[in-house]
Amino acid sequence: MNRKVTVVGGAGNVGATVARGIADKQLADVVVIDIADQKAAGVALDMLEACPISGSDSRVMGTGDYAESANSDIVVITSGVPRKPGMSRDDLLNVNYKIMQQVTEQVVKHSPNCILIVVSNPLDAMVFVAKQVTGFPRERVIGSAGVLDSARFRTYLAMAAGVSVEDVQAMVLGAHTDKDMVPIVSAAMIGNVPVAKFLSPEKLQEVVESTKKGGATLTGLIGTSAWQAPGAGTALMVEAIVRNQGRVVPCTVELHGEFGVKDAFAGVPVKLSARGAERIYEIELSAAEKEAFTKAVAANTELMNIARGFLG
Ligand code: NAD
Repeated sequence: MNRKVTVVGGAGNVGATVARGIADKQLADVVVIDIADQKAAGVALDMLEACPISGSDSRVMGTGDYAESANSDIVVITSGVPRKPGMSRDDLLNVNYKIMQQVTEQVVKHSPNCILIVVSNPLDAMVFVAKQVTGFPRERVIGSAGVLDSARFRTYLAMAAGVSVEDVQAMVLGAHTDKDMVPIVSAAMIGNVPVAKFLSPEKLQEVVESTKKGGATLTGLIGTSAWQAPGAGTALMVEAIVRNQGRVVPCTVELHGEFGVKDAFAGVPVKLSARGAERIYEIELSAAEKEAFTKAVAANTELMNIARGFLG
């Protein structure tokens, strides 16, 4: 039997991009669920009709009925409102926490053993809400943002250094917010050579700033939040789990003492396998990065506590 992945919010920009990424590579059969049920059916049919072209046998269907999602191996949640120019991701908390609560209640009812990948913003608080509502172990509630933010960091590093992005290894940890994401310069490498050999401290600072406001830059240009790179990043996470690849990428998870943090959520390096977030790796941070990471955890915790109040 084929694997089954459900994408809730899949009629929207990010969800449809994730679903297409999964179907294109024939990673699983895909169920697109959306409150806009007719649009979900149409978006799914369009994707199904792309499968003969991409050479995929994935079955794709769209609906508003969660019964169709029953026994999914993975459920990706992108439902919610995206930010508009001038908004911060945190501004979305009031609206999106309610949607996250409703959606996760349905998901856990129909797919009690699934691995959840949360994409909706404000990301770190939404991962908390999903974990609270489902009661799943932390291995099965994973936030998608680190792959995206790291891809943006790698892109800006490659452009500044004038090298192929393929040889740039770099990650972003902490929070998925403009203010509190932490691009880890101390561990960033180009072809196994530290980035400081390629770029001056001033240039590196410019790259860090561009990365941090990467999402806002796109929201300003497009008029709504980006979806190509966010969708591709989430599809990469699905692939790592479906194919049990053991990829090590930054994801948002609950910390149980790692990095000196307990009962809080942050983006950290995670091994993704068939078990979900199988393992967390602690790395050495510079003093400035440590301070920024601590600030990120505090910001996430503040938002988490507001969401906890909503949940009652
Ligand atoms: P979108 O408006 O295009 O899509 C959202 C979809 O959710 C819509 O189709 C809508 O009908 C659906 N929806 C709303 N309420 C629902 C409910 N109760 N049940 C089922 N479906 C529901 O927005 P988008 O650009 O795809 O963004 C989706 C979310 O992802 C936003 O919260 C956005 O901020 C977030 N996002 C996160 C990242 C990341 O890296 N984590 C990146 C980009 C966007």
